[in-house]
Amino acid sequence: VFSHVVQAPEDPILGVTVAYNKDPSPVKLNLGVGAYRTEEGKPLVLNVVRKAEQQLVNDRARVKEYLPIIGLAEFNKLSAKLIFGADSPAIQENRVTTVQCLSGTGSLRVGAEFLAKHYHQRTIYVPLPTWGNHPKVFTLAGLSVKTYRYYDPATRGLNFQGLLEDLGSAPAGAIVLLHACAHNPTGVDPTLQQWEQIRQLMRSKKLLPFFDSAYQGFASGSLDADAQSVRMFVADGGECLAAQSYAKNMGLYGERVGALSIVCKTADVAGKVESQLKLVIRPMYSNPPIHGASIVAAILRDRNLYSEWTIELKAMADRIISMRHQLCDALRARGTPGDWSHIIKQIGMFTFTGLNSKQVTFMTKEYHIYMTSDGRISMAGLSSKTVPHLADAIHAAVTR
Ligand code: PMP
Repeated sequence: VFSHVVQAPEDPILGVTVAYNKDPSPVKLNLGVGAYRTEEGKPLVLNVVRKAEQQLVNDRARVKEYLPIIGLAEFNKLSAKLIFGADSPAIQENRVTTVQCLSGTGSLRVGAEFLAKHYHQRTIYVPLPTWGNHPKVFTLAGLSVKTYRYYDPATRGLNFQGLLEDLGSAPAGAIVLLHACAHNPTGVDPTLQQWEQIRQLMRSKKLLPFFDSAYQGFASGSLDADAQSVRMFVADGGECLAAQSYAKNMGLYGERVGALSIVCKTADVAGKVESQLKLVIRPMYSNPPIHGASIVAAILRDRNLYSEWTIELKAMADRIISMRHQLCDALRARGTPGDWSHIIKQIGMFTFTGLNSKQVTFMTKEYHIYMTSDGRISMAGLSSKTVPHLADAIHAAVTR
């Protein structure tokens, strides 16, 4: 009965790793996947995560019962504080409902399912380009996806005028997906002044902000600085949604731990919204997993663990920034044609190199370097040892 099923293509991002794994070359380099690697090229479990896990193991009173539908209550509270700020009036006024979800992706999906069912506008605007999974998540939830101009290939920076024009002509009430910081794949973020203009425009047009926060702490190394965009929108008293992921900033990728918050106008509305979120979640996966959320809660609740986390997080962010400088210097040293300053200017995990798909194919074939075909490279996958190999490959690709 399944003989008619056709072979589906690999996921464009995860497929890069599949191809990488098949390559026997000893010099191969995987810059496709957005996961942090140490200077030795190894995955990293944060020390603070190991400590929190040890606490959990030692606590004999802990059981493995089901969590409630919306997850671990303490985790939800602490997650809201982390993104909105400990002194956020919206939290103090109980206008925020936060539910534990399956990492960033699950949070986006639950938020989108809720909007498709209970919000009057079904259109969501996503930046062009955006993380490849966004359109799929939103379409499958029943939203209709449109794009707004974001990246300008000529400047390798923000197309701010285009962004304002496109959001300005969006229908009233439309949902707008915003990357809270460290835009994926471009590494280009608006300045705070630009965020303020975006906020004013969106509020005047009654556009609904849906923040995707997958890199809090990873962009600048500061958790507060990386949440500024979100906090500006919450400070004006209006509604918004925020999807949080702990995959990158705590290195909890495979634990699938994240949260969806919906900021409402009143506590009464927030309570009703939460009751409906339960109806979204229950038939999808019933309730979320307990382990990852317990780790996060243990770290966020404890002053010492929290401060240790911020130090480890900053070290990851700093290593990425240092890779940016090393790669840029290596290209300048080779006299590679072009202006490579965008490697330093862009922030977060990725550099949008500006290399085209032909150049990417060449680099994969001749240098065994793997990346997505749009020329996005994960700076976290680089090390001082591998920078020269990458610089050689880029130099060869642009001078052929
Ligand atoms: N949003 C963006 C912009 C991302 O880059 C990612 C991870 N690549 C996610 C959401 C979701 O990640 P996860 O589901 O692993 O938290």
